[in-house]
Amino acid sequence: MGLPRQRIDQSRQFAAARGDLKQQPQVCVRCRLCGSGRSRLVCSTEDITEQRKFLKHFYCTRWKDHGCATATDRLNFTQDYTTEIVACTDCGFLYRNPHPRTEAVSSAYEMEHYDGGYLWAELEAQRAWARTKVPFLAKYLRKMVKRGRPRILEIGPFAGGFLIEGREQGWDMFGVDPGRDVIAFCRGQRLAVFEGTVEEAKLSPASFDAVVVWNTFDQLPDPHVLLKHAVPLLRDGGLLVLRAPNGACFEYVMGLRALLPRVVRPLLDLGLACNNLLAFPYLHGYSAYQLETLTAAYGFRLLDCVPDQLASPPFDQLSWWGWWEERGLKSLWRAIAAVWKDNGSRQYRSAPWLDCYFERACAVENRVPTTKIGLGVVPVYSPVVFEDTGINRPSIWWDREGGLR
Ligand SMILES: [Zn+2]
Repeated sequence: MGLPRQRIDQSRQFAAARGDLKQQPQVCVRCRLCGSGRSRLVCSTEDITEQRKFLKHFYCTRWKDHGCATATDRLNFTQDYTTEIVACTDCGFLYRNPHPRTEAVSSAYEMEHYDGGYLWAELEAQRAWARTKVPFLAKYLRKMVKRGRPRILEIGPFAGGFLIEGREQGWDMFGVDPGRDVIAFCRGQRLAVFEGTVEEAKLSPASFDAVVVWNTFDQLPDPHVLLKHAVPLLRDGGLLVLRAPNGACFEYVMGLRALLPRVVRPLLDLGLACNNLLAFPYLHGYSAYQLETLTAAYGFRLLDCVPDQLASPPFDQLSWWGWWEERGLKSLWRAIAAVWKDNGSRQYRSAPWLDCYFERACAVENRVPTTKIGLGVVPVYSPVVFEDTGINRPSIWWDREGGLR
């Protein structure tokens, strides 16, 4: 079964509007973690094509509405061009290779278009998901933050669900994202957000108690760029939270899949599809060990790694049996994780997604004095969050053209 022709045409037009990476020339890259040029093949282009075919069938048979909105990030991904998935021979880091140039990838995310109805539905699902994350963060913030209102920076807030839940927790929340549609949507929720990158935001050093990246770390062409600019924003002992698809899990499942008879493979494909791992629509996949190695160079130590799965889609978007199937598959993943503990390797091969909590152990160097914000640009509903973050330019609150859309 395929998508109806009209739907396919809509999807193609929609993809073009997002800055389609399939149209971009691809370049071979080296490992972003260790710099090695040696890699082993995890998924061939033929494997990816086969998996995308299964994913299309999965989407068409489980989702009630097959419009552009529901297909976004379920069937149509920014990183859905056909390429090889490889793992670094020296450190095991999983990545797409070749892939479009860094500038093309960044531009594609800036141009990402999201339907308003889709974002409203996703907001409710994201808020429900965020309520499961807040207690973890609160546990560490209680130990690290001596004052009453922790300041949290979220990079890539998407629909703003975590920003809202954090605000309701009494935290001062701020979001940074280059995506125009999601930033406009967040502003509609009266959230303090900036359209652009962390570098462009020019926030004051040591002005946040925690930096969290729930949605976008795997999409960054170079994770070092984000770390270089985000780390100085943390206070001494501040918290860094990174969530990423587990590359070690994907590579293990692909190895297992290759050994199984073709008739049995759909069982594994279902388990991957409900966690958005089928065809690996991400630039990079990390194990906890690799995240630990990456962040150690910036003075962090791993406090905790929480194995996790993808947030469930909104209830009314799936067929009743698709909804129950999704619950059943995720319960199976949890059962496997319960009996197959990590053996100290920090690979967590039974977990499709990983939430890693890091503590900044090094002191902040070369602090610069904070310039207080002018009263004229302080939003009345978030007076505290801007006080210490160096947000003293109108452009940080309005978009780059100087207007609130
Ligand atoms: Zn490597």
